[in-house]
Amino acid sequence: MIMTEYDFVKMPIVDIVNRIILFASKHKASDIHFDPREDCCMIRMRIDGKLQNHCKVPKMYEKNLATRVKLISKMNITETRVPQDGAIKGIVDGRELDMRVSALPTNEGEKIVIRLLDYSNSLDGIESLGFMPNNLKKIERLLDIPNGIILVTGATGSGKSTTSYAMLSALNKEDTNIITVEDPVEMNIEGINQVHVNAEIGLTFASALRSILRQDPDIILIGEIRDSETAQIAVRAAITGHLVLSTIHTNNALATIERLLDMNVERYLLATALNGIISQKLARTLCVDCKKKRPTTDYEKKIFKTMLDMDVKEVYEPVGCPKCNRGFRGRTALHEVLYITDRLREMISDENIDKEVLKQEVYSGDTTTLLQDALLKVVEGYTTFKEVYKVVDIDFDLERSIRKTVREEEREKAKTEELELIDGDDGVEVDLNNMIADMDEIREKAKMDVQRKIKKKKALHFDDSNMVVINSYEGDNLEEYKKKLEEEEKKLKEEKGKKKESILTRKIEIKKEEPKKEEPKKEEPKKEEPKKEEKK
Ligand SMILES: [Zn+2]
Repeated sequence: MIMTEYDFVKMPIVDIVNRIILFASKHKASDIHFDPREDCCMIRMRIDGKLQNHCKVPKMYEKNLATRVKLISKMNITETRVPQDGAIKGIVDGRELDMRVSALPTNEGEKIVIRLLDYSNSLDGIESLGFMPNNLKKIERLLDIPNGIILVTGATGSGKSTTSYAMLSALNKEDTNIITVEDPVEMNIEGINQVHVNAEIGLTFASALRSILRQDPDIILIGEIRDSETAQIAVRAAITGHLVLSTIHTNNALATIERLLDMNVERYLLATALNGIISQKLARTLCVDCKKKRPTTDYEKKIFKTMLDMDVKEVYEPVGCPKCNRGFRGRTALHEVLYITDRLREMISDENIDKEVLKQEVYSGDTTTLLQDALLKVVEGYTTFKEVYKVVDIDFDLERSIRKTVREEEREKAKTEELELIDGDDGVEVDLNNMIADMDEIREKAKMDVQRKIKKKKALHFDDSNMVVINSYEGDNLEEYKKKLEEEEKKLKEEKGKKKESILTRKIEIKKEEPKKEEPKKEEPKKEEPKKEEKK
């Protein structure tokens, strides 16, 4: 991303702060960071889940900037030694923006982070949240049941609130009394009573909920179930005729059931109360203006075949254009929607149920797993295989067995394929935890392969730096390189060591021609083309 330059000498700091917020809002950033550093203050923005440099503020203006932000977020501007929280509400570029601001004293100065809350998606309805048709139908069915619990699960920042608010908006009719208890209230919804939890004065989720139940509600939204007391009240509310929506911090439907049981919710109560679980994660969406097709690799074909029973020959990959961010624009949600059937209720209430049996039941029938949903979105061209790989836990066993077969089938070819899979050519950071074992294996293989071909030549050292070069070969180059080596080897045999010496030197030259070590990818500020932000 090109850095923006502001004219700190001529422009009032008030304008600069406004422009920074405007920029963030326009580019749908979720956070703005003001990072005090030794020589400057770096402003960074999180766009589509990734932090990017936005502009450098000269050290002498850092304090003014921080003070301005603290002022508009109603913090104490004279206090810089303790952490502070604040909020900014305002209309930016015609859109109502709600921002939470946090200031934290660090050794280099105050670090300020502004979180931009944007729930405009929620208001566009559930249909706009990227649910596949089968999942959307299940949610509509869930919302039709007048009592019980619907849970939205996922990690922090996976769009749980957006989905909850969208469901709440769908349920928001004049004949229903909806009350929420949240920490904090993230979006104001017309016609709904929203309670902000305040633990300092004893207004906890649990105590607020007890009062809410006396307010004749039809539907209750609990911001998050964090403790067993809240979980138990939620379940009780559900079985006494209320519809309860809430979120919980788990990875999938199965883990959610276990988590609630761990929170001392009684099995039979949970089995009665629970209606559905929506698990979700966010993946970056491919830019429609520049994405391009490529053939699937054998490994991907296997995954598609195993998981979806589909023969997928082509998928999309990111390219990058002025309209997007390295080939991606915005994010899309990946879902798993579990509708609790009578059979599942029976199993949940059974104390002796085996975890594996429960798992099989959960994922039998018409439940599309998170991975399946994600892969379908790859097939449809919304996102990429690599993005899915990064976001979804691919079941470890499945993953292993597929890789193993691919390897056995085409031992030689698989190596280049995997190298291809691993290098992050679209700027995606590869999930190291998943890949590190394979990487070592591939590295070892490549090393042995080359060593075998070249045999023991004293002149070549296979130290780590050499291996970096080998890993960065494109598929074609590696083949070509291997071919060259094979030819040389042939000649070597034919000439029976006659001119061994000279060939050896030639071989070393081939090796030396190639070392195009990857330049460290720095996001240098390109100064030729400063954005004309300040001239408007
Ligand atoms: Zn693009």
